Amino acid sequence: MEDRGIELKALPDELGHFGPFGGCFVSETLMHALEELKDAYQRWSSDEEFMARLDDDLRHYVGRPSPIYHAERLSAHCGGARILFKREDLNHTGAHKINNTMGQGLLARHMGKSRVIAETGAGQHGVATATVSARLNQQCLVYMGEVDIARQSINVFRMKLLGAEVQSVVSGSKTLKDALNEALRDWVTHVDDTFYVIGTVAGPHPYPMMVRDFNAIVGREARQQMLDQYEALPDALVACVGGGSNAIGLFHPFLEDEEVAMVGVEAAGRGLASGEHAASLVAGRPGVLHGCRSYLIDDDGGQIRHTHSVSAGLDYPGVGPEHAWLKDNERAEYVAVNDDEALAATHTLTQLEGILPALESAHAVAHGMKMAERMRPDQMVLINMSGRGDKDVQTLAAIEGMSL
Ligand SMILES: *Cc1c(COP(=O)(O)O)cnc(C)c1O
Repeated sequence: MEDRGIELKALPDELGHFGPFGGCFVSETLMHALEELKDAYQRWSSDEEFMARLDDDLRHYVGRPSPIYHAERLSAHCGGARILFKREDLNHTGAHKINNTMGQGLLARHMGKSRVIAETGAGQHGVATATVSARLNQQCLVYMGEVDIARQSINVFRMKLLGAEVQSVVSGSKTLKDALNEALRDWVTHVDDTFYVIGTVAGPHPYPMMVRDFNAIVGREARQQMLDQYEALPDALVACVGGGSNAIGLFHPFLEDEEVAMVGVEAAGRGLASGEHAASLVAGRPGVLHGCRSYLIDDDGGQIRHTHSVSAGLDYPGVGPEHAWLKDNERAEYVAVNDDEALAATHTLTQLEGILPALESAHAVAHGMKMAERMRPDQMVLINMSGRGDKDVQTLAAIEGMSL
């Protein structure tokens, strides 16, 4: 059993494979850019000065380490295991995404790239990228579908305040996947001075590996904090899964700890049976999307299907390839939680603990509560609080028929 953990932890291989998943399914024109990125990442991630600078930024700019908090009232409410939160919601800009954009921004600087591009759906990754670009004095262009721009006006304005340019994408469905295509097109034509910042553990190699490594600070801290505060590892880890970066960041440092269960929580939207969900691992099938092989949600003709979740950050038709492999070899388990359950968990948590979670994180909370109920009081479940809910206040108000 332990061997399996060691083997899993060493992935991906040279070509970016996690078992049959991952890889690099891109046009030849992009291969050069990806090779350059892979070499640069290898070089700088083993450079002591680079890593010390990143560590310093995470400490003093992002606010790490984030605490582990024992939610006593929520635990008592569920009546089973102790519920603990890893507080990524306390990071600068309010979520885990800054761990990765900080790393990629710094890497761009060391590669001599003065221009940074990104794509964003709800705008959270765009804001995290624009934040780091402002600080590192990089020119920042964010691609965003026209439909998303209309839906997420506050984040669009935030990016502009930070000095970034937001480019409206009017092709296709005018949402995230179209913005992604535009960003790739931009990268191919401006490879010399441009760095493409991807916001989750998807895309072609080396992105799933690199984004995981930058987010693994979450799991490394959590593992040590558990040993320091509780002299034990948690019995289970729970995290929501959109593309999968906050989940893999927490899971990865625990892969060899076979006694620690891992549960990824996808968005069941209006219910799996309705077809209106974003549960790629639970209800999708293997295929190729955005440069890598993983699970995805498509129709019988192989076209990517429209997805739905009340939380914009989970509303993605694919998922990172490492999760696909952890699912198939059963090291991690994946479940889905629907909109209503996530909203109920949001209200319960806010009222019992004074913590308003991001709607994404509320999916993990909802499932973590169900698990805790079935576990013994001497057990512990550690839930990744991937972000805070300030960004969702308008959505929550609209659901209750209020307009702010
Ligand atoms: C973007 C986002 C997610 C989903 O992204 P992952 O790559 O799956 O982590 C989850 N939680 C929050 C708060 C987010 O902003």
